[in-house]
Amino acid sequence: MNGEWRVAAAREPEAMAWWRRWVERESPSGDKAAIDSCGREVAAAFGPLGWRAEFVAGAEGDHLILRPPEEIAGGGGMLLLGHLDTVYPIGTLARMPWWEEGDRVYGPGVMDMKGGIAVAWLALRALTAGGALPAATLLLVADEETGSGGSRALTERLARKARAVLVLEPAAGETGKLKTARKGIANFTLRAEGRAAHAGVDYFAGSNAIVELARQAVELASWSDERRGITVNCGVIHGGTRSNVVPAEAELAVDARAWTAADLAAVETRLRRLRAVDAGVRLAVTGGVNRPPMERGPAGMALFARARAAAQAAGLALEECATGGGSDGNFTAALGIPTLDGMGVVGGGAHSPGEWAARHSLVDRAAVLAGMLAG
Ligand SMILES: [Zn+2]
Repeated sequence: MNGEWRVAAAREPEAMAWWRRWVERESPSGDKAAIDSCGREVAAAFGPLGWRAEFVAGAEGDHLILRPPEEIAGGGGMLLLGHLDTVYPIGTLARMPWWEEGDRVYGPGVMDMKGGIAVAWLALRALTAGGALPAATLLLVADEETGSGGSRALTERLARKARAVLVLEPAAGETGKLKTARKGIANFTLRAEGRAAHAGVDYFAGSNAIVELARQAVELASWSDERRGITVNCGVIHGGTRSNVVPAEAELAVDARAWTAADLAAVETRLRRLRAVDAGVRLAVTGGVNRPPMERGPAGMALFARARAAAQAAGLALEECATGGGSDGNFTAALGIPTLDGMGVVGGGAHSPGEWAARHSLVDRAAVLAGMLAG
């Protein structure tokens, strides 16, 4: 085991205590008061390390920037990227308390991603104890779980000043793979406007918006391509008023994903060219790309090679993978900034009542992160 791992292990109980405090400070997306309170609790942990907190006002909660005691002249350090919000509403803690059992720790957001913040804290704590001043900035946004609409510009601004971005999202699978590629995500709403009519008296005078969208849904689903990794998911459908009325209106929510920007753009183009099968129905498409793909490339792979070397120095094995889920790493990678994701804790059941994290991964991941920041 390398020096970073040993120092991190010595500080593990302290990191566990902070991790627990952050999980117990519930911070659902959209609840500004709760997120701000959690943000202050996180800032309180970094204060004793000499890290300076800056809160950037956000409608859904303030985003937190943490900077080292001395700014590295000219920037060019690493941006550590994470989020304060979770998907769990206030009160979840009552049914899903912080709970430790063997190597597993349970609680709302324990893995996604309060564990990632704990990894960052422990890595920076270990480096600070060793007298090293990491060239890094930590950004924790308040609205990641709802698409990062309010924080994207801030994330991009800080990323442009950075040499590379390390994202503190959970690792993939129980072996803790890092994520070197993520699919891009586009969200669309397809709206159909037909003509209402009495189903008994006037049926043939109507134009059925639901039937139109049902046909379109079958067409959209056929664009999914397993080999190319393109998915077009018809996720929500609404329409109609009563069973004896030909429905005039219906709406379909679509989530499209692809590994490359070109494939995602092709889906969007096809969608905008859709024609109604029923001449009496008008189709309208709204929406577009929410997160561009984080395409696998040499810069990200070089960053992964550094992570693997840091892991090897700590006696750990590390692999990489691609995932269909999105994160704020999609934004930074799309700017051409080398980005490596999945630096957070290992665990499972994210966004579910059984969300858990592997306790041992806290020290392991902190050792990898510290090794990368020190190197
Ligand atoms: Zn997350």
